[in-house]
Amino acid sequence: MTGSGHDAGEGTTVMWRLIALALILVPILWTLLDRQETTRPDATVGGAGPAAKAMLRGATGRRAWFVMGTMAAASVWDLGEERASEALERARAVTLRIDSLMSSYIATSEISLLNRRAGTGIQTQIGSETEFVLSRALQIGRDSGGRFDVTVASLVELWRFYVPWRGEEVEPPSRAEIDSVRTRVGQRSIRLDRSLGTALLEDPGLRIDLGGIGKGYALDLAADEVRRAGVGRAYLELGGQIRLVGEEGAGEGWRLGIRHPRQPDRIVAILSVEGGSIATSGDYERYFMWEGRRYFHIIDPSTGWPAYGTASVTVWAPSALDADGWSTALFVAGAERGAELLAGLPGIGALWILDPGEGPLTDAHFRVAGPLIGRVELLGEGDGSPFD
Ligand code: AMP
Ligand code: MG
Repeated sequence: MTGSGHDAGEGTTVMWRLIALALILVPILWTLLDRQETTRPDATVGGAGPAAKAMLRGATGRRAWFVMGTMAAASVWDLGEERASEALERARAVTLRIDSLMSSYIATSEISLLNRRAGTGIQTQIGSETEFVLSRALQIGRDSGGRFDVTVASLVELWRFYVPWRGEEVEPPSRAEIDSVRTRVGQRSIRLDRSLGTALLEDPGLRIDLGGIGKGYALDLAADEVRRAGVGRAYLELGGQIRLVGEEGAGEGWRLGIRHPRQPDRIVAILSVEGGSIATSGDYERYFMWEGRRYFHIIDPSTGWPAYGTASVTVWAPSALDADGWSTALFVAGAERGAELLAGLPGIGALWILDPGEGPLTDAHFRVAGPLIGRVELLGEGDGSPFD
C-alpha cells in the first residue's frame, strides 16, 4: 500500500487524491467481481480506466496522480516499500515538470511563450527537453506525410476541442472558418534552431500543441526515473497510454485489453507484449455531437475536419513518445495508408478499429500491421456481458 501522507495541506490536492483513489478502486473491485480468468488482461489501454489488475499483482508500490489534464498511475515491483515510494515520487515529479514546460494550458510554459510570440519574429529560448520533443514531432510530421502536425492546435482551438466534451450537442464551426485556418496550418511555420536552442513560429495566427505527443515523452522520462531508482519491473500509465518497464524476453509478458470504442466498460481485443509502450488514439476520447454526427479531437490537417474512418488506433512502439505520436498520425492516416507508412517504420506496430457506424463491431473492423501481427486476440461481441 502507498502511504497517503498528510503533506497535502490544500483542499484541492486532497480532492484529487480522493478522485484518484476512486478511479483506482472502482475498476479493481469491478475486476474482482466481474472478469473471467480466461480472457482477463493485465490492464486496459485507451482510457477505460487505470491499471486494474496490474496494480493488484504484488506490486510493492503504487501511486496515482493528476497531471496533463488526466490521470497518471504507476506500479513498481521488486523494491521495498520505502524505495518504491521514492521511485514513484520521482516518476510523478518528472511528469509534472514536463507539463510545466510543454503544456499549452499553462501560461508560463515554454510552449505558451512560443505561442504568444507567434508572428512577432522574436526567438524563444527553449530547454533541451522541449527542443527534443519539438524536433521529434517535426520528424513524425515529415515521416507521416503531414498527417501529424503540431500546428493543428489552431484548428483544435477553432473546433473548441480544448473542452473535454463527452458527447454533448455542440454546433461545429462553419466551413469558411475551418478553411481559413486550415490553409495556414503547417509545421513549415516552425523554425527550430537546435544549435541556439531557440524556436519561432512565423505565422501570427498559428499555435503549437504537443497534446498528441507530450504524454508519451513524459512517460518515457518517468520510466527512466523509476529505472534509475532501481526498479526492474514497472507499469506506468498516463491518460490511457502505457509504458512498461521490465526485462524484455525474460519472464512473462503483459496482456493488455483494448477498449471497445463504443462501450467504455468493455474490451474487444487483448494484445500480448513484453515491453515498450502502448498508446491508443480514439474518436471517443473527446467528442461532441451535432445533427447525429460525431465530431472529435483528432484533426486531419489536410481537411481541417476530424479524421473520419477510424474509431481507434492502438500503437505498440519501443518508446512512449513514438507510440503517442504515431497513434495520432496513424489515426489520421487510416488503416490502409497507415499500413504502408508502417512498412518504413521497423519496430512500430498498430491495430486499427474501423468506425463501425451504427452497426455492430465485427472482426472485419480490425486491421493489424507490423510487429503486432500475431499478438492480437479478438474477443468478439459475445453475448453482451463484459469480457466474455
Ligand atoms: P492523442 O489522443 O494522442 O491522439 O492526441 C490527440 C491530441 O493531439 C488532440 O487533443 C490535439 O491536441 C492533438 N492533435 C489532434 N490532431 C492532431 C494531428 N493531426 N497532429 C498532431 N496533433 C494533433
Ligand atoms: Mg498521440
